[in-house]
Amino acid sequence: MRAVQYRTVGSPPEVVEIPTPEPGPGQVRLRVTAAGLCHSDEFVMSLPEGVYELPLTLGHEGVGVVDALGPGAAGVSVGDAVAVYGAWGCGVCHACARGAENYCPHASSLGIQPPGLGAPGALAEYLIVDDVRHLVPLGDLDPVAAVSLTDAGLTPYHSIVSSLDALPAGSTAVVIGVGGLGHVGIQILRAITGATVIALDVDEEKQKLAREVGAHRALHSDESAVAAIRDLTGGVGAQVVFDFVGAPPTLEIARQAVAAGGRIEIVGIGGGTLATGFFSTPMGASVRAPYWGTRAELIEVLDLARAGAIHVETERFTLDEAPEAYRRLHEGAIRGRAVVVP
Ligand code: NAD
Ligand code: ZN
Repeated sequence: MRAVQYRTVGSPPEVVEIPTPEPGPGQVRLRVTAAGLCHSDEFVMSLPEGVYELPLTLGHEGVGVVDALGPGAAGVSVGDAVAVYGAWGCGVCHACARGAENYCPHASSLGIQPPGLGAPGALAEYLIVDDVRHLVPLGDLDPVAAVSLTDAGLTPYHSIVSSLDALPAGSTAVVIGVGGLGHVGIQILRAITGATVIALDVDEEKQKLAREVGAHRALHSDESAVAAIRDLTGGVGAQVVFDFVGAPPTLEIARQAVAAGGRIEIVGIGGGTLATGFFSTPMGASVRAPYWGTRAELIEVLDLARAGAIHVETERFTLDEAPEAYRRLHEGAIRGRAVVVP
């Protein structure tokens, strides 16, 4: 089969021919119908030698059709359309029992890694899923439109749900970075909270996208944004700042724009850290760096899309065009999410 692999540190990903994998005991093989490209893949490809075993088949957003069941695998049938829950955990601990496999404390010591982030990923013709519990029925959702809900939808949803009590009517939420995650985050905020949404991006096209998907305001992301947010909130600041960039300048905006008692959600992996304490963050403010989402939340995100409350703006590529799609992602030239159809 053909797959998109990151093979050598410092080199771009390549389309290669590799053996089609056979599902082992309890495993399921999917024929991939769509796979999404995430900025985290860029992060993976920026890491030094030895962090991930190479070659690595990329792609942690995947949907497909059940193609073969390994010995003992049950609960799905060949031909079922499914979405992959990618934050694989051990499946038996307290976190996993709650569906929060994204916070499984045992995954790393057991060598369990998500597809595309250690295990072979979805940017291939076929994908092995380790357990039936990591599949969610896709139903009538279109694969290309739905695939990025598994991360670009699930990750902001998990972050927003965690801060839901801070976002009643009259509150303000700031979204920094209107890329794959941010543009879905804006829609989720509009769909499930009463907050006024202020979006920030350095790119005017992304500011335009923010307004199109429901942001009340979209501003340029620089030092002037803090004063504008203070102004729009009567001096109070934002109850929650969702930073989908996570770089030093955006964290500084978050620190200065958050209200007393507010929350800062650092979702982006942009290399920044935020010192928290007296005379750094406002009194009572909390700072959190959430990771991906729970299995239950993925079902909820798919339901939100099915209800027409959220959607993903997509740009479509073939498997052969995936390296080019990554180049465009690197340049910040993708509107919404790049989706590969093998
Ligand atoms: P993306 O490339 O699609 O979007 C990034 C957006 O940020 C672009 O619109 C870009 O113009 C904008 N941007 C860049 N610098 C900015 C600045 N200084 N101020 C405001 N906007 C700026 O990226 P994505 O796929 O949406 O991912 C966003 C981040 O979230 C990445 O760092 C990614 O690694 C991370 N991520 C984290 C998790 C998690 O579980 N925490 C999951 C998925 C992705
Ligand atoms: Zn991701």
